[in-house]
Amino acid sequence: MYYKSYGNTGIKVSAVGLGTMRYDAEDIRAGRLEKCAEIPLYAFEKGINYWDTAPNYCEDKSEIVTGMALSQVKRSQVYVTSKTNFSTLGTEKPDRDLFRRRLEMSLQRLKTDYIDFYHMWCMLNLDSWEKHMEALYRFFEEAKAEGLIRNIVFSSHMQGNDIETVVESGRFRGMLIGYNALNYRFRQSGIEKAYENGMGVVVMNPLGGGLIPQNPKAFSYLTEGTELTVPQAALRFVASHREITVALAGCTTKAHVDDAVKAVENLEERPAKEVARRFEEKGIALNDLCTGCGYCKGCPKDIEIPKFMDAYNQKILTGKDEEINRRFQFHWDVDKRQAAECVACGKCEKQCTQHLPIIERMREIANLPDETEA
Ligand code: SF4
Ligand code: SF4
Repeated sequence: MYYKSYGNTGIKVSAVGLGTMRYDAEDIRAGRLEKCAEIPLYAFEKGINYWDTAPNYCEDKSEIVTGMALSQVKRSQVYVTSKTNFSTLGTEKPDRDLFRRRLEMSLQRLKTDYIDFYHMWCMLNLDSWEKHMEALYRFFEEAKAEGLIRNIVFSSHMQGNDIETVVESGRFRGMLIGYNALNYRFRQSGIEKAYENGMGVVVMNPLGGGLIPQNPKAFSYLTEGTELTVPQAALRFVASHREITVALAGCTTKAHVDDAVKAVENLEERPAKEVARRFEEKGIALNDLCTGCGYCKGCPKDIEIPKFMDAYNQKILTGKDEEINRRFQFHWDVDKRQAAECVACGKCEKQCTQHLPIIERMREIANLPDETEA
């Protein structure tokens, strides 16, 4: 296994980590939790020492399964995470007791007396982050001072420049973000800033929400010069970034663990900019795709164009209109009806590095029926 330093904490973690939201659904439903726990134990055998879990995953059983495995290994040899936020606590005005009860439940389920990385979970935008800071951060600090959590971290779907703002607050030792061969431009500046600031960077969703393995032809260039499959190569793409500490692989079977381990065999790390340059030099057959570079920002109607074009990417990759709606509904915190406000001024198209027909795509998005909201 290839290991990296988690920011400036002095902790060494495996370049791939175990995502624990994919324990076998039938086993979970049937209560065969010991069987599910074989997956983290197998991952441990293979050198994977970073296990990412949270309340609610796997019908709220993920922490329990992960705890079963954690209690069977030497505690100091695994770094385990969990998460909390307003939605987990069921209110936007949580008090100390509510925070503590939730944390204590995670500790109990994980059969441990400390959590290595405790996340301020799923910060969708700066506004939500600021509210969480005001309401919760002091409880995180108190729990840390008592040794119940070792590192305060956050997870987010924000774009690069917003992530930079959170990084610059200096309040976190690390972060968990979505990053992959499809959206790397959105968050590249965020991971660079975190790295410069001595923070660890853990990546979820390295397979683009399944879009990469579902479109092996479009992404076959990732495998060039390797014997890897497309999903393995996509994981390696992420792990090869110098700025990224851990790429999470959600594993249902032992074969998935083996795949993840193979993806980082003889890993070579490179700066994010170099990885992106090599990737773009291949003249990939994705020219119609928005790369998330952000040069089109500054819309007079305040439309967050990169998010809209990212949603449109899903249609190009899958050929299905409904995937645009799904992206807005399940990923971006944006009202897609904003597309109708485009006044076709053309400012964004002049700046677009991919020369995309943004106005036309905005019209198409504005006219889409809301099937997935039915
Ligand atoms: S063309 Fe539309 S989306 Fe582009 S900058 Fe003008 S108003 Fe905004
Ligand atoms: S400039 Fe073009 S490619 Fe870059 S984010 Fe905007 S729409 Fe996407």
